[in-house]
Amino acid sequence: MRATFFMIGQNARSYPSLVRRVVAEGYTIGNHSYSHPNFTTLSTTQQRASMDNATKYISAAIEGGYRPCFFRPPYGSYNSTTINLARNRGMSVVKWSKTPGTGPLRRIAARLSRKRSSLMRPAR
Ligand SMILES: [Zn+2]
Repeated sequence: MRATFFMIGQNARSYPSLVRRVVAEGYTIGNHSYSHPNFTTLSTTQQRASMDNATKYISAAIEGGYRPCFFRPPYGSYNSTTINLARNRGMSVVKWSKTPGTGPLRRIAARLSRKRSSLMRPAR
């Protein structure tokens, strides 16, 4: 896959211009939940809401919308519910992604971390 930037929904909501920037730089955006909970502690309804709210705000930032193809569960914690919910939304669950070490994405991540820590998480 192309380099994927896994984005937390509440950060996409706060900084839609940076979502657009990541896409403009040629990166794929992945869903990294709305507020970074541990999915194994959530009910089905809560998992669904966290996933869907992340997609909602990522998509809202991009003209014409945007549908992430990958879901990365926070802390790598998930269960069969997570897999089924993701699959029903056309997303694969991925546990791991390369951290882009250089270039525009790193600058974007640095800019975000100056605003507020851990705003966008490329990999962990
Ligand atoms: Zn994370």
